[in-house]
Amino acid sequence: MTAAPRSAAAAARWSSASQAAPAGSSSSLAALPPPLAGPARLAAFDVLRTKVLACEKCSHLATSRKSVVFGVGNLHARILFVGEAPGADEDEQGEPFVGRAGELLTKIIQAMGLSRSDVYIANILKCRPDTPGQTSGNRKPTPVEIATCIPWLQEQINLIQPAVMVALGVSAMEGLLGKMEVNISRQRGSWTSYRGIPLMPTYHPAYLLRNQSLSEKRKVWEDMLLVMEKAGLSISEKQRGFFLTK
Ligand code: SF4
Repeated sequence: MTAAPRSAAAAARWSSASQAAPAGSSSSLAALPPPLAGPARLAAFDVLRTKVLACEKCSHLATSRKSVVFGVGNLHARILFVGEAPGADEDEQGEPFVGRAGELLTKIIQAMGLSRSDVYIANILKCRPDTPGQTSGNRKPTPVEIATCIPWLQEQINLIQPAVMVALGVSAMEGLLGKMEVNISRQRGSWTSYRGIPLMPTYHPAYLLRNQSLSEKRKVWEDMLLVMEKAGLSISEKQRGFFLTK
């Protein structure tokens, strides 16, 4: 993973872009298995991807989806971003976080001095939640859908074993921790843990698209500074000052 900080332009681009009953609790989940080395990890990931792409455990979603959105990025990533579920753009392209919120997440990653290929990005639900009778819009995954799909993400985490995880929004936290009472405004910015991996809750990028104040951007950025520190990335003074009021 590249640790060198990138320019303030990345943060500026982020700024301008933004103008535009699940499974048991984390503590009850199995400990991480011993990590696999490079070729074995790649092979195991390929096997897992094949299984997930063929999954029809949620028959209603298997019928309505265009793609199974498995996840994307570096199998040896130190940082894993976890989102909610594919939207229309993701369903169309088969990749997580490629719509407007995804563009913003990419800019956040760039402001951290990284690229999407340095990290791993996945969702707690691999298929787009269906919206019968609607031609647009998204809905939150149900607890049953989350409980059905979360084992796939757990297997991805078993293989990647990131140093740090970031939960993007309420559903990601609920899916990972098996709780349905997440208050993201209160919990963001404070470390918790997922099977021994430090987990930082923060706002979903879609929230920043709806709330574009500097103070909200700064909150997410402060969360990312904590993530960078935990992941052992270098942080420049310029990066520390992103989104501070002058
Ligand atoms: S949402 Fe997950 S569990 Fe359900 S069909 Fe899609 S891949 Fe399978």
